Amino acid sequence: MTIVANDITQWPPGTVARYLTVVKAIVTLSEHAGWVRLPDVFTEHRAECSGCGDHETWSWRFNMAAHEEGRRQDPHVAELKAKGVKQGREWSQAHAERCRALPRPQASQ
Ligand SMILES: [Zn+2]
Repeated sequence: MTIVANDITQWPPGTVARYLTVVKAIVTLSEHAGWVRLPDVFTEHRAECSGCGDHETWSWRFNMAAHEEGRRQDPHVAELKAKGVKQGREWSQAHAERCRALPRPQASQ
């Protein structure tokens, strides 16, 4: 199933929050693997606007050696992750309040 960027009823996997702009574009905040490239490990939050394409990323330190050896991540990672969500929500909310870019129409199928 293809998830259309401007469909408010479909939330892509990893979505944390979505914000509707005044012209009905959507700013999506979601979790991603980032540089780790493991399907079940997230190392960053990314916000992206479906109207103008502007985006921002917040990464937290992920210790690959600890992950591979089954050790716990540094407790500080949880703080960075929480900070990334907070910053992502603030950026997304602020962007959604001021962005006037219209989403590109989807090609008919
Ligand atoms: Zn925008």
